[in-house]
Amino acid sequence: MSFVGYQDVNLHCPVCGAGNQELTLCGGGSYLSVPRRLRVYSQNGQNVIMESTLLHCSACSLQYLNPMPPREILENHYKNSALLHGTYTLERFLSAINDVDNKKDVNTVMDWLCTTFQQNRDFFSSGYLMDVGCNAGGFIKAAKDMGMKCLGIEIDQKLCDWNKTFIGCEVFAGMFEDIPETYNDSASVIVIKDSLEHHLTPVTTLSIARRLLKEGGVLFVEVPNIGCLLAQHNIEAFGWFEADHLVYFSKNSIRTAFEKSKFTNIVVSSAPASNLDRSDVIVTGLGHVDVSWSEVEKLIAQEKGRKLWCAGRK
Ligand SMILES: [Zn+2]
Repeated sequence: MSFVGYQDVNLHCPVCGAGNQELTLCGGGSYLSVPRRLRVYSQNGQNVIMESTLLHCSACSLQYLNPMPPREILENHYKNSALLHGTYTLERFLSAINDVDNKKDVNTVMDWLCTTFQQNRDFFSSGYLMDVGCNAGGFIKAAKDMGMKCLGIEIDQKLCDWNKTFIGCEVFAGMFEDIPETYNDSASVIVIKDSLEHHLTPVTTLSIARRLLKEGGVLFVEVPNIGCLLAQHNIEAFGWFEADHLVYFSKNSIRTAFEKSKFTNIVVSSAPASNLDRSDVIVTGLGHVDVSWSEVEKLIAQEKGRKLWCAGRK
């Protein structure tokens, strides 16, 4: 199964700005079809349906929805972020922030950043660690427990109040693009984990992150990888076409987004194998081939994991 495109879409890529955007097609031969996506958003208690088509940028390989939902719809949608992520009761919230895996996640990310940028942890504790779209702030709770100064950024006011009360961290309740300029040059690490794919204008998001970073500070982003083996073999089984995912990055397009936001020293890699779901890889058809798991792991190691990690330095 492969992607094929028509070069007749009169639009410009939201990341690299190139024209000649293509409709994404999946299937093969006479079975080619255009993936159309129905999305249901909540707005003032009402469900709003939007239908979008998946487009592909032939220059940077970004895939994205067209049309995009307007900002007002998204803002309303994320005001109930706790509902969307199953952290709407205090019991569920507390269980999420006290999950033992949070500490492991922070250590894995911080160790990777320290190794990648040859910087010790003291530097990363010299300014804020900001978590953009922190939901129940498990990541910042674990980071705070390790002595870091944390700011949780989240639209859902209830989650912000709980994060402030039960974690004792600073919070900003609102859309990321509305964060006050008083936070400029104050972060040593900004984490955007499983969140950038929800943003309407990812380059703007990354540019704002850059202005919030201290000199030498690092932005860390984790996104699903539409260039992964699974998506290339079976786009429907890819599993990341969630209701509010608007943009789909590959290695090249996430790097382009960092470059457009003027980051230097950019590193893109597959997320550690622990984040990969083995069954998803087997589903692609490799299960019918006489191939050992170690061979599959070798393929994954060739930068084809389901998730990408990207970091850039100011
Ligand atoms: Zn592009």
